[in-house]
Amino acid sequence: MVDLRSQYEKIKTEVNAGIQEVIDTTSFIKGGKVTSFQSDLEKYLDVKHVIPVGNGTDALQIALMALGLKPGDEVITPTFTFIATAEVVALLGLIPVVVDVDFDTFNISLDSLKKAITPKTKAIVPVHLFGQNADMEGILALAKEHNLFVVEDACQSIGSVYTFSDGRKVQSGCMGDIGCTSFFPSKNLGCFGDGGAIFTNNDELAAKMRAISNHGMVVRYYHDVVGVNSRLDSIQAAVLEVKLKHLDAYSANRQMAAAYYNAAFAKSSRITTPAQSHNSSHVFHQYTLKLTGVDRPALIKYLADKGVPAMVYYPVPLHLQKAYQDARYKAGDFPIAEKLSECVISLPMHTELSEEQLAYITASVLEFVKD
Ligand SMILES: *Cc1c(COP(=O)(O)O)cnc(C)c1O
Repeated sequence: MVDLRSQYEKIKTEVNAGIQEVIDTTSFIKGGKVTSFQSDLEKYLDVKHVIPVGNGTDALQIALMALGLKPGDEVITPTFTFIATAEVVALLGLIPVVVDVDFDTFNISLDSLKKAITPKTKAIVPVHLFGQNADMEGILALAKEHNLFVVEDACQSIGSVYTFSDGRKVQSGCMGDIGCTSFFPSKNLGCFGDGGAIFTNNDELAAKMRAISNHGMVVRYYHDVVGVNSRLDSIQAAVLEVKLKHLDAYSANRQMAAAYYNAAFAKSSRITTPAQSHNSSHVFHQYTLKLTGVDRPALIKYLADKGVPAMVYYPVPLHLQKAYQDARYKAGDFPIAEKLSECVISLPMHTELSEEQLAYITASVLEFVKD
């Protein structure tokens, strides 16, 4: 699905030098590389504060911890996402309220969101799924109307740009109160292990989240709030510092691969290619098709036999996951997410796809799908 090896070969000298520098200075934790990557990313995103943390899940958890929510408060997330989004809500004793998504964009449905808001709702966590921003203008308007926090799950969408109706362009993760991203190796900006970051323009929230991520400590050994230990280590920051310089080129490569796929599948009546939202660029963390009248497991097997990986993101929506079963939800409650979980398939998508590989992958899919 990804080719991190070929990507690394092209930046090997620079990355190795950065890692060696960390080893030579032995400042493995909170070293200069973390600070310089943080300020590079603040500049790239045009955001006031980047807080590097241990991973994307921690980023979400720390963000929610900083909002001063109380047990029983409701947090709304889409049901069609990676589990981490709802997991942290549940872990903090908050109530995850899930809503349906839009069939075309896979992102949170505004209608479904509106219906789910109650007096107990305190926050919305939209997920910019597969690399395309959710309808943030609509979400922010609803949040304002109901006095809700917005924490963006931008784990799949770093580098994607949203255009507001007044023409303002804002980076993914920098529109709500807080944005969270992941530097898991296969993410669009990936390190060589675990990593993540939190973004905010709010000074007060930034100070709180910095403290929470460091044991609730501002002055050393004085703990003002209950915190966690979640840091980006210097070696990961050294890798990310190099890769951030290539992020726009990486996104462009992904977009080129997506355009190739789109053109190849345009004529197939059984394949729906990803919809391009009118107000967001797409950085294609995943390239996800919808199938009609195709035996998906048989297609996956057919492709696997030809050496082409394919994955289903995500086979089970949150409200049907065993760990999240409760009396509130049953099969049929979120028909769009349920339908998507049955018909989506993601093809290899990364920065190193050659035209030859794309030709082989698309030909293999079309051999099976036929019309
Ligand atoms: C990857 C991902 C996360 C979690 O990130 P980790 O760094 O793996 O903890 C959260 N939400 C979404 C949508 C993701 O894709």
